Amino acid sequence: MAISMDTDLARVLGPKTAKVMADQLQLRTVRDLLRHYPRRYARRGEMTRLDDLQVGDRVTVLAQVKKVSTRKMNRRPGTLTEVTVGDGASSMRLVFFNHRHAHLDVGEWGLFAGTVGTWQGDKQFTHPDCHIITGDDDDWARAMVPIYPASKDVSSWVVQKSVKMLLDDRRSLEQALDDPLPEAVRHRHGLVPLATALVQKHRPETQEQVDEADERLKWDEALVLQATLAARRRAAALEPGISRPRRGGGLLDAVDAALPFSLTDGQREVGEELAAELAREQPMNRLLQGEVGSGKTVVALRAMAQVVDAGGQAALLAPTEVLAAQHARSLAAVLGPLGRAGELDGDPAGTRVVLLTGSQKAAVRREARAAVADGSAGIVVGTHALLQEGVEFADLGLVVVDEQHRFGVEQRDALRAKGTRPPHVLVMTATPIPRTVAMTVYGDLETSTLRQLPAGRGGVSSSVVPVRDKPAWVDRAWARVREEVAAGRQAYVVCPRIGDLDGGGKDDDGPDDADGAPPEEQGTSDRRPPLAVLDVAEHLRTGPLSALRVEVLHGRMPADEKEARMRAFAAADVDVLVATTVVEVGVDVPNATVMVVMDADRFGVSQLHQLRGRVARGRHAGLCLLVTEAPSTSPTGQRLAAVAATTDGFQLARLDLETRREGDVLGAAQSGRRSGVRLLSLLDDEALIAEARVEATALVEQGAGLADHPELAAAVAALALDDRADYLEKA
Ligand code: ADP
Ligand code: MG
Repeated sequence: MAISMDTDLARVLGPKTAKVMADQLQLRTVRDLLRHYPRRYARRGEMTRLDDLQVGDRVTVLAQVKKVSTRKMNRRPGTLTEVTVGDGASSMRLVFFNHRHAHLDVGEWGLFAGTVGTWQGDKQFTHPDCHIITGDDDDWARAMVPIYPASKDVSSWVVQKSVKMLLDDRRSLEQALDDPLPEAVRHRHGLVPLATALVQKHRPETQEQVDEADERLKWDEALVLQATLAARRRAAALEPGISRPRRGGGLLDAVDAALPFSLTDGQREVGEELAAELAREQPMNRLLQGEVGSGKTVVALRAMAQVVDAGGQAALLAPTEVLAAQHARSLAAVLGPLGRAGELDGDPAGTRVVLLTGSQKAAVRREARAAVADGSAGIVVGTHALLQEGVEFADLGLVVVDEQHRFGVEQRDALRAKGTRPPHVLVMTATPIPRTVAMTVYGDLETSTLRQLPAGRGGVSSSVVPVRDKPAWVDRAWARVREEVAAGRQAYVVCPRIGDLDGGGKDDDGPDDADGAPPEEQGTSDRRPPLAVLDVAEHLRTGPLSALRVEVLHGRMPADEKEARMRAFAAADVDVLVATTVVEVGVDVPNATVMVVMDADRFGVSQLHQLRGRVARGRHAGLCLLVTEAPSTSPTGQRLAAVAATTDGFQLARLDLETRREGDVLGAAQSGRRSGVRLLSLLDDEALIAEARVEATALVEQGAGLADHPELAAAVAALALDDRADYLEKA
């Protein structure tokens, strides 16, 4: 039978097996099945480490039947068959009722699949699926038995048999495969042919074969990913934008003259980089990463000023209304009369800065939109909604996206539609991005980095406050807050949840408010609910901070109240702001010096780093206290200790990556399937990814580009990258 990678499995396996495979394992085509790799390999003798199994795990074990006994049950009718199976080192019990599987014989080897349970302290499977390995089963002769991700009705050995069918007919297999890896690349990197790799991955005889196969199959993944990104970069480069060269004597010069500080070397360098790129016709697509507080805003402002001087408009997009309003305020403050051109006290040489947010009154909005449309507003600040709501620009030249990690391809496309030519784009993030992530998730952007903080920062020190181990430290934390306030400073108290305002509704907040704890620590229902802003604020007001002015800030407040609250805090009319992660990104109140994070274990590493950045913004030393019930020795406690121990964002980014799986990094849990990444590890395969990037870029740029490599082109076309940017949001 002639098959191709797209052949429906029903044609190969029959409709019944194909249906359960499709329903339960999402395997539909020959390609899907061939890329459904073994999770591990069972070896005779060392096989499964039965002792390591956890109750609730669904597993397949390879073991020998040691003992079979059937007896009548005491309290109810029917029989109970107990089978003891072992792998040499340890044993476990299988339980069957009413003679099911009573055909198991002592001495037989088999694969047993089930959910681990316990009975009287011993681990057992109740009614496991059994696959006895018979003498003529050539799989048994193998040193390594592949164990596949399986489901209720598709056991590992059903997958194994099905894959074997595909692999046995080597000729049709080779005809069916579309090898995305060009021969030259394969030889250059000493990789085995695809058919060999698949056979070695699914039916290995030695670990070396598995390693060889992995290397080759990872290359496929990395190359397709990188070729997709390279093609995207090339397409963007070929679509001309508008050059916005630097012009002296305008807004930019005025901004530089008005800055109350001198730029850091990093700000200056990145500024030159941006200036040169804006002057080109090829649209800029750049990611600016800089530590929290490294001063990205002023870099963006200078780029925007250059564009305004060149006759264009610039839009600054923030993830929240709080942040958008803050940006509008601080730009207006820096620009002074230069930001009020057209108004009575405005400087005609300047431009207008307008704020556009969803919660503005209709009349205000209408006026702002008109100024954007007729070009009198050179700088527009808004939330992301700005793009979706069909706001018309006279001549949009630059879009700066601040702290907005989900700024993917779709949004970029939406931007293209905003002008006759695509604008320049600058994406800014304070979450440091490990190199492999920059090369993959953000691989279609160029990157710049601001490593240096402006001089004279007090820095921030962090400590974990383990509530269980050291209850007294909590009182000490509130005492520190009182001391700081007494010294004229302010504090944030951050909680994971808003709390019951109305007894119902979704209780989350902010753009990045997803519970950031690693997946294995979630979903334990016996945990108490996370601490809530409203409860904690009440507790503080009536208890340890009763003498202070304590206010709350969260996403369920109306926009004007939030804005007013933030303003009051910035004006030091509030001592302590109890908030959700709405304060996570960008909020800039240099007089705030303490942050107490409640239930710190509920936040991810990058999120904590972001949060803590709020109190390292001025001359005074900052203090961040991570309050948690997690014992210091637990993995969670250690994760928090690591956050407390370093302020190096890049080191933390790596730690963050380690606590997550690549699947999460590249998208939703199953997006390994969509992004084509199954084996590649962003943590371990940096060198391979970098090499693949070089090869892919060359392939895309040589000759007819990917047209010379149809298999690679097809694989690229099939790759869905649209949900790439979950990486940072999940942090
Ligand atoms: P982030 O990079 O986290 O967005 P901001 O742009 O908000 O940081 O800058 C943080 C603070 O540092 C602001 O108050 C800003 O005015 C100040 N700042 C920026 N650049 C400098 C500099 N070169 N020297 C001193 N202060 C600076
Ligand atoms: Mg910022």
